Amino acid sequence: MAPPRDNFNNEINSNDNVVNTLRQPIVSPYANSRDPMSNVGNFKIIESTLREGEQFANAFFTTEKKIEIAKALDAVGVDYLELTSPAASEQSFNDCKAIVGLGLKAKILTHIRCHMDDARLAVQTGVDGVDVVIGTSSYLREFSHGKDMEYITKTAIEVITYIKSQGLEVRFSTEDSFRSDLVDLLSIYQTVDRIGVDRVGIADTVGCANPRQVYELVKTLRSVVNCDIECHFHDDTGCAIANAYTALEAGATHIDTSVLGIGERNGIPALGGFLARMYVSDREYVLNKYDVKAIRQVENIVAESVEITVPFNNYITGYCAFTHKAGIHAKAILNNPSTYEILRPEDFGMSRYVSIGHRLTGWNAVKNRIEQLQLNDLTDEDAKNITNKIKQLADVKALNLEEVDVLLRKYNNAKLTDNSHLLVLQNLITHDQLLSFNSNATVGITA
Ligand SMILES: [Zn+2]
Repeated sequence: MAPPRDNFNNEINSNDNVVNTLRQPIVSPYANSRDPMSNVGNFKIIESTLREGEQFANAFFTTEKKIEIAKALDAVGVDYLELTSPAASEQSFNDCKAIVGLGLKAKILTHIRCHMDDARLAVQTGVDGVDVVIGTSSYLREFSHGKDMEYITKTAIEVITYIKSQGLEVRFSTEDSFRSDLVDLLSIYQTVDRIGVDRVGIADTVGCANPRQVYELVKTLRSVVNCDIECHFHDDTGCAIANAYTALEAGATHIDTSVLGIGERNGIPALGGFLARMYVSDREYVLNKYDVKAIRQVENIVAESVEITVPFNNYITGYCAFTHKAGIHAKAILNNPSTYEILRPEDFGMSRYVSIGHRLTGWNAVKNRIEQLQLNDLTDEDAKNITNKIKQLADVKALNLEEVDVLLRKYNNAKLTDNSHLLVLQNLITHDQLLSFNSNATVGITA
């Protein structure tokens, strides 16, 4: 078996055997080694919250809010910020200029139709680069702009040549690429590559592609152009992050993301989710290049601005992303977090939470809490006794951590003062009694 390369913390010795001491596997040992053309450990993020994200149903960003978001994204260390076209409105034009004026580390791009008027406006804003897009699928050619491939190619050459002549970076992307004719696609990408475009883009505008289709298309494209390849995936069918990952495996270089995935319809790869995926594949690359602890801040800013809450199951920052509940999980995770965690919460500025006040709990988890509270006189036997009582109470209603702590402290005090700890458990029948523990009253205990 080939050694797993797609992981971290596995030391490989000269015989290709995985050294077995203290290793913490982060992915399956059966993982394939990387493709020769893979960019899984060498990619760039084009953060499009201020373009794609502005197309989210609830989004309305004032100039001040755009600046706040831009700065917060710059703190994460994304490579590019993509902004709404200056041709969209006068304010959009001014906002482009305002963000260019911030002097951020990220390069600033704007996103325009393949049209000379738009290109001239984009250049006037002072951006570092321009993302040009035009629809090539039969649907868009027939029902949207009504142009044929000959016209599209001619305009693309004119627009790209102009933007290059102004000293700016330029990307040319088709729209709805996965429902476009492959021969048309490859032919126009080869043409723009020949005239010096910096990147070509593939866009799954309707979210129809699956990872195998993505792999095939990107791999084919990689073999016919020399320039970089950017990919834009919509999440209508739940494949956006998987498609982004697969695109990098096949040789793509740039991935479009947005904060919390916001965008047209149900959006594109979430910045946090995409970085979680890439962290598992190349932790060092991700942690050296991006400040993943800053993701939470920008998510909070965007969530508040577009009036949504961060979903419970959000990657990294969802409230249960690092919560462990089942007793058997809790025991293992307390011994070694890698047993049930592929992401280390501390790398993301998050904390692990082992939930213990429920009927699925186990005594190892309770014992761990006893240690955290430094109730050093309690034994394993005590932890088991208390666990049984927690299960009994939790069969009616789960206990929160505060209630568990009250019980642990009461039991501990009783044991130290007059050895009445077993009586405490015996007399504890309802949740309400726990409340009175808190005010130091005895609960029907006559000890
Ligand atoms: Zn889009």
